[in-house]
Amino acid sequence: MHTANRRKSVPKLKMASVSPKALIRPIVQKLHGYVPGEQPRIKGLIKLNTNENPYPPSPKVLAAIKAATDGRLRLYPNPTAQRLREKLAKLHQCKPENILCGNGSDELLALATRAFVEPAIGTRGSASTIQFFSPSYSLYPVLAAIHGARTNIVALDKDFGIPPLPVLHKSKAWDFHAALTFITTPNAPSGRGYPAAELEALCRVQKGVVVLDEAYVDFADADALKLALKYPNVLVARTFSKAYSLCFQRIGCFVGHPVLLAALDKIRDSYNVNGLGQIGALATLDDLNYYRANFRKIISTRQRLSRELTALGFSVLPSQTNFILARPPHFPAKTWLEKLRARKILVRWFKYPSVRNYLRITIGTDAEANALLRAVKAISPSAKK
Ligand code: PMP
Repeated sequence: MHTANRRKSVPKLKMASVSPKALIRPIVQKLHGYVPGEQPRIKGLIKLNTNENPYPPSPKVLAAIKAATDGRLRLYPNPTAQRLREKLAKLHQCKPENILCGNGSDELLALATRAFVEPAIGTRGSASTIQFFSPSYSLYPVLAAIHGARTNIVALDKDFGIPPLPVLHKSKAWDFHAALTFITTPNAPSGRGYPAAELEALCRVQKGVVVLDEAYVDFADADALKLALKYPNVLVARTFSKAYSLCFQRIGCFVGHPVLLAALDKIRDSYNVNGLGQIGALATLDDLNYYRANFRKIISTRQRLSRELTALGFSVLPSQTNFILARPPHFPAKTWLEKLRARKILVRWFKYPSVRNYLRITIGTDAEANALLRAVKAISPSAKK
């Protein structure tokens, strides 16, 4: 406010004497931050790179958010997302104490690292270990690095299955005492689903906290939510982003034991769940049939696209999510990424070895799937054009 007046009297700072870089913790200096999928603003772009839902939120959700956009924006939202937790508890047949809401499920994953894992400085071994399979959600190693935790990364089988328990026991690579284990189920980026019984066998023997990250579970045949209400060390993460078309509002939740959730509740920001997001999520839960119809459409587009890409020479993995992982023919996957991009179709390619030969393609509308198939035919060298 008073900069104009102060500018005259304050002596010039000797900028050169302070190295701003030296002010940053070494851990943060070295950090490779999470790289989100691109959100380019290109007119007419078909965006199949970040697993967003191609269908808009229900008209009732849009109306509820619009109706709340008035002078009340000056007020803080409910600090515990109370009504949302109550409604989610009803849906999941548990108590509000079994639910914690977050600014997207990403925030909850970060809170879990801070509450359950000792930074590796001064502590060794399992207490400071964050464990996950590879490939899985690429945020986990970043969360570990931010926190200064050790990571224990264990490869999934070639077909992206979880190695059977006896194999995990025998190999000694898996840490049954890890403070925190993240399991993406269904898996991303492969799309593979895991039966609840298989997950239960692992959760039962795991001594630390297990987070079952079910971001994509609404597109799957089965879920493992019951494990969060059965085992005190299991949390299930859910999000409104993917299945409920609400990425923009950033709403996620954990379901699990009240004691674990109370610990996270203590360390979260007071108003971590924004008010319009709470309103949008509440209205979403009042209109679930709208969303269930969308799940059916997306699953049917997924099946058709998988079939047709297979016919064009792609090797498409079975998917329980709103994306597919497909190994393209003729050119390296990265070349396909570029060739599709030149035709205004954006998909995702990851450079890490287990998936570098694949493209991850979000399931869009039927019209978007048709556009993708047309582009694939046009790009394929053997295609009749
Ligand atoms: N888990 C997985 C496996 C994801 O792919 C994502 C989205 N990138 C998230 C969690 C986070 O979703 P959100 O923060 O939007 O709830």
